[in-house]
Amino acid sequence: MDFIPNIRVIRSQRKTIKLMFKKYAYSKSNNHEATTYWHCRSRRNGNPACKARFSTKKLRNGRYKVYLTQPEHNHPPKKRHL
Ligand SMILES: [Zn+2]
Repeated sequence: MDFIPNIRVIRSQRKTIKLMFKKYAYSKSNNHEATTYWHCRSRRNGNPACKARFSTKKLRNGRYKVYLTQPEHNHPPKKRHL
C-alpha cells in the first residue's frame, strides 16, 4: 500500500498491521472481499471511544482506493508511534 499518498503501513512485531494517516494510527478491523476496514482504537479516560475509520479497496490495477468514512477524531494525534 505504499503508493497511497499520505498513508504509511506499519507492521509491528506481533504481525499486526497498522496504517498511519495524518499522524493517526489505524488498526485493521476486518476484510470484505477487496475492501479492508481500518479504525482508530484510541480510548481516553472520560471520553467515548474514537469512531474515526476508513476503508481501502484494492483495484484491479493493483492500486488502492481510500474511502474516508469517518475522518474526524475526538482526540489529538499521538506524538509517538509504536
Ligand atoms: Zn481517533
